[in-house]
Amino acid sequence: MKEAEKFLRKLEIHKGKVAVLTGAGISTSSGIPDFRSPTGIYSKYDPEKLFGLDNFVKNPSYFYNFAVEYLFVMKEAKPNSTHFMLKELEKLGFIKGIITQNIDMLHEKAGSRNIANVHGSLKSGHCLSCGRVFSLEEMEKRSLESTDRVARCDCDGLIKPDIVFFGETLPEREVKMAYDMLENSDVVVAMGTTLAIYPVGAFPQIVLKRGGELVIVNGGPTSLDSVASEIYRVSLEDFSKRVLDMLRKTESE
Ligand SMILES: [Zn+2]
Repeated sequence: MKEAEKFLRKLEIHKGKVAVLTGAGISTSSGIPDFRSPTGIYSKYDPEKLFGLDNFVKNPSYFYNFAVEYLFVMKEAKPNSTHFMLKELEKLGFIKGIITQNIDMLHEKAGSRNIANVHGSLKSGHCLSCGRVFSLEEMEKRSLESTDRVARCDCDGLIKPDIVFFGETLPEREVKMAYDMLENSDVVVAMGTTLAIYPVGAFPQIVLKRGGELVIVNGGPTSLDSVASEIYRVSLEDFSKRVLDMLRKTESE
């Protein structure tokens, strides 16, 4: 596979000045269901009812039934070769870090350090009334113990997982981390994302505007293919394994 060689050469030239942007496509082989494909979550659950904040407050059972079916089980998921490749690339100083739209915590599990979770993560939640913070395990326990599946605080307030709902602003600290990475990078690599979701889909512009490059690694077309300097239309799993093999070879040399 020549693509992996070419990709690594690119990273070598810009070593330490590369930010990676990841999306749902890198986690599907870990069994994480995607939202937008024809058989994805949105074919079964209405996105507005699910992630509209007003709807959540009005009818939290709808969200929590979905959470029991899809979200709480994500904690059992294991990182795949793409997550491990990115961890390795960070460890070896090739990339600055990862900006992810995924809420599945698989980059953390793989051992990556510098991660901006710009759509939040499942790690925690908080009470919409008193602000008390809950772990994923506590949210799940409270949800499963309640007759309507809704996780509630001791104050009877509604617990909302710290994932970004429609219309909510992205978490400030995470966005700041993302901007720090992008403003100091010559290359942004978009992996497993169609770059169709705003505002994250516009992040590559930060690098492009300063004369940097966009490199795309994705199974299908993306919104920004026309402005990318390199496009790797590959199976992420195979591509990542090949890159990992090459990294291990150079490490042992
Ligand atoms: Zn509370």
